[in-house]
Amino acid sequence: MVDREKIEQAVALLLEGIGEDRNREGLRETPDRIARMYEEIFAGLDQTPEKYLTRTFPVQGSGMILEKDITFYSTCEHHLLPFYGKAHIAYIPRDRVVGLSKLARTVEVYARRPQLQEQLTLQIAEALLEYLKPEGVMVMLEAEHMCMTMRGVKKPGTQTVTLAVRGAFEQNRDLQDEFWRMMGR
Ligand code: ZN
Repeated sequence: MVDREKIEQAVALLLEGIGEDRNREGLRETPDRIARMYEEIFAGLDQTPEKYLTRTFPVQGSGMILEKDITFYSTCEHHLLPFYGKAHIAYIPRDRVVGLSKLARTVEVYARRPQLQEQLTLQIAEALLEYLKPEGVMVMLEAEHMCMTMRGVKKPGTQTVTLAVRGAFEQNRDLQDEFWRMMGR
């Protein structure tokens, strides 16, 4: 659970640290606001995708299922700045499928934590493997990182692309090709 009081103290110190007057009117409520915000954007720390991925439905002989353009917002663990973009999730069910909205829920569980895009991609793939036991999983994330666009190299519009390929997708290039075809690439 998020400790709001600790966050408030930390933000007050942070404001002092950057040379601000933490008591001026505009900043007076900021520690409280940030504490509430962190409670929301880091809510995934207390969650697992279990409740979303264990309600499955039987299916016979289904081919690849692709849920694309799932918008997500996460927080870079190196700078605590947002990174955000689209997740694309494909899987080949063995005999069970899950409601499509549950894939988006799964992305949220892992996105709402201090994160690395590479790790987020892997965690989504591993969760599907664990709970759905599919023939294969392919997860692709495309995101823009504020720590690259508003500071440092300042390259707005740069997309970081990460990929996790598991099971049948690893062994079978035709399946990977089908993924890219269904993605329209
Ligand atoms: Zn960063």
